[in-house]
Amino acid sequence: MTKTIRVRYAPSPTGLLHIGNARTALFNYLYARHHGGTFLIRIEDTDRKRHVEDGERSQLENLRWLGIDWDESPETHANYRQSERLELYQKYIDQLLAEGKAYKSYVTEEELAAERERQEKAGETPRYINEFLGMSEDEKAAYIAEREAAGIVPTVRLAVNEAGIYKWNDMVKGEITFEGANIGGDWVIQKKDGYPTYNFAVVVDDHDMQISHVIRGDDHIANTPKQLMVYEALGWEAPEFGHMTLIINSETGKKLSKRDINTLQFIEDYRQKGYLPEAIFNFIALLGWNPGGEDEIFSREQLIALFDENRLSKSPAAFDQKKLDWMSNDYIKNADLDKIFALCKPYLEEAGRLTDKAEKLVELYKPQMTSADEIVPLTDLFFSDFPELGEAEREVMAAETVPTVLEAFKANLEAMSDEDFLPENISPQIKAVQKETGIKGKNLFMPIRIAVSGEMHGPELPNTIYLLGREKSIKHIDQVIEELKR
Ligand code: GLU
Repeated sequence: MTKTIRVRYAPSPTGLLHIGNARTALFNYLYARHHGGTFLIRIEDTDRKRHVEDGERSQLENLRWLGIDWDESPETHANYRQSERLELYQKYIDQLLAEGKAYKSYVTEEELAAERERQEKAGETPRYINEFLGMSEDEKAAYIAEREAAGIVPTVRLAVNEAGIYKWNDMVKGEITFEGANIGGDWVIQKKDGYPTYNFAVVVDDHDMQISHVIRGDDHIANTPKQLMVYEALGWEAPEFGHMTLIINSETGKKLSKRDINTLQFIEDYRQKGYLPEAIFNFIALLGWNPGGEDEIFSREQLIALFDENRLSKSPAAFDQKKLDWMSNDYIKNADLDKIFALCKPYLEEAGRLTDKAEKLVELYKPQMTSADEIVPLTDLFFSDFPELGEAEREVMAAETVPTVLEAFKANLEAMSDEDFLPENISPQIKAVQKETGIKGKNLFMPIRIAVSGEMHGPELPNTIYLLGREKSIKHIDQVIEELKR
């Protein structure tokens, strides 16, 4: 029997879209699209304290930027935000209360904290101990009346089946088992403010929205037995679960953390630096999954076709910035110039460099770019003073043959007519120097490159000279000749 596939991405709008959440969204998306299922977005906004203004909009906008689309969401469907579903949660809480499967709890924060401290001191695992334990019915009624009179607002707790065994066959990790006795006692399903807790609301929602598979990060594993308890209490069939391994920083070997300030982790960061969304999509799709084989560059369509949940990795996914840079460069290098020029335009404009040569400059640097914002520092040569030579460059320029090469090349540039000053005519001028001086190879090219651009490495030389212009190229050469005399 095949189930209709319905999966969801359920962000809490507590901040910007993080790469870990983007991966969850992306794998659910790929799973749904591969199997012809439905992918929906539900906003889990019951934690009012952590709510961030605009969090929902920015999450959706960044998903869209990545190229992820969805079939159902708060934009098109009523009540797809948990804050709009309070009546539904209340209905089931009332049902559980009526059936004696849940109860009102009057214990105070202070009492809980004191009990926790006692347990810690005694070396016991912290757990909630039923506050009514050992009370007769009369004592219980008196306790409740007294607390209600004192204005204490109760929470609602699920009466946990301590003898229960909660297990599931995880799509990623295989069989996982929890004992009811080990989850910390009867837990809160409704907070004092009337909002359900995450573990309760998520079950009501996943059931109500007919979710077939819950694919999420493995930080949720310990929540799953609690959720299974709610399915049990409400008499519902649980969906399949799959918990993806965490993402580690390949540099530190530790869990990718928002404190790793040198690692870009928010989709917004990549967007602002001018990465191509296709590259980020491709990179994220390989965080904890791969289709097998050596290839690493895949379009969205290919990833949808290839996606196979059985290949979700059991070991942590490594976030490797170098790989991301490599991949991003590969996408930029192979993209149409039009597209990359458009991507670079805002940065050039802001730097006041959107001149008539701008597109040519982008073409020149495209093969080496990782993100579009790099176009500004890369084009410094064309807009700033000639840089002072670095140590390595000075060393190359100390060779005896250098002045000969530079003088000869300068003379050839000067001899060119204005109409002839074109990239395809500049190469022959370099070759002519070889003929005239007998100097060739590195001894020929390096000094010219350094004299013109100030650096040993850089983009294609004839085009660089062409774009610099004859006057500026000669000025640079003169400057270096002078410098070498000192
Ligand atoms: N709102 C939860 C989160 O952002 C979703 C958990 C789930 O997928 O069940 O982590």
